[in-house]
Amino acid sequence: MRTTTGWQATGPTVLRRASLERRDLRPDDIAVQVDYCGVCHTDLHALHTYDQHTKAPLVPGHEFTGVVTATGAMVTTFSVGDRVAVGNIVDSCGVCTMCEAGQENFCHSFPTLTYGGTDRQDGTTTLGGYSREYVVRNTFAYPLPGGLDPAAAAPLMCAGVTVWEPLRSLGVGPGSRVAVAGLGGLGHLAVKMAVALGATTTVISRTQDKLDDARKLGAPDLIDSTDPQQMATARDTFDVLIDTIPAPHNLAPYLKLVTMDGTLSLLGYLGPLTVEATDLLIGRKKLSSAGSGGRTATAEMLQFCADNGIAADIEVLPSSQVDTALDRLQRNDVRYRFVLDMSDLD
Ligand SMILES: [Zn+2]
Ligand SMILES: [Zn+2]
Repeated sequence: MRTTTGWQATGPTVLRRASLERRDLRPDDIAVQVDYCGVCHTDLHALHTYDQHTKAPLVPGHEFTGVVTATGAMVTTFSVGDRVAVGNIVDSCGVCTMCEAGQENFCHSFPTLTYGGTDRQDGTTTLGGYSREYVVRNTFAYPLPGGLDPAAAAPLMCAGVTVWEPLRSLGVGPGSRVAVAGLGGLGHLAVKMAVALGATTTVISRTQDKLDDARKLGAPDLIDSTDPQQMATARDTFDVLIDTIPAPHNLAPYLKLVTMDGTLSLLGYLGPLTVEATDLLIGRKKLSSAGSGGRTATAEMLQFCADNGIAADIEVLPSSQVDTALDRLQRNDVRYRFVLDMSDLD
């Protein structure tokens, strides 16, 4: 076993610095020194629901970048010293129709999650990127393209790919009319990517200062969702509406903004919801969702971001301030993603 240091849950929302074990490298593994790890809403949720009486340890963190420090005997695609990025899945069955289609994120036997997952070979619980080292199957690590800042690129690996897959699969490109509802970790990256893809991009928010921010992100058009007049004027306007609002909300006002045969892609809130079928019927509108990304799309997304100078807007904190990051994320007090600097774990 290899030993490293990380931030482990000892109870709901309580993290303490702890010594962690990583597996010895398998032939297809690489060891990664984690330099930067983003703080995702999923981490917050995992901590809130963590039961310290369960046997499974919890170390959050599933969007990180770092440097390869060792490679398994069969690894040919990475060398020691390479910069890499790792996202929220670290393995899949490799043989089901989803895996064969390059959608490992939808693996029929469920992909292995970066933390809180079960390793497919030894059955141990995976421990996440709030740590100084991670050991990962090389096919689920991605070369970090040159030109991407390693800290600002970390959130691309969860928030970024989560908005990239629907934008691409829904055919967003030059001439598309895209709306992004909710401007947080997901939303701000959706705006940057949609603009770079050539879409006319509109931000929908109920918060005036976020509307002001949207202009800086390149969205020329804004809709204040609390203004009935603005919402009425935008009826049947958007080919794609990316809905990143993280809380339960009525979809009807947003479906009205989608054009005929257009799609509302629900990415922020993934719980039960009620939809009036007539809100889909009128205009043959489609309701869709997506989450995470397959290996092919993840690699494409990183290259697209490098080519277009896209990365997350971040606030970097030393990992010892992880509690502050989680507390402020809980209060939506971040523009737009916290990233932990893991070097203080040495
Ligand atoms: Zn995440
Ligand atoms: Zn599979």
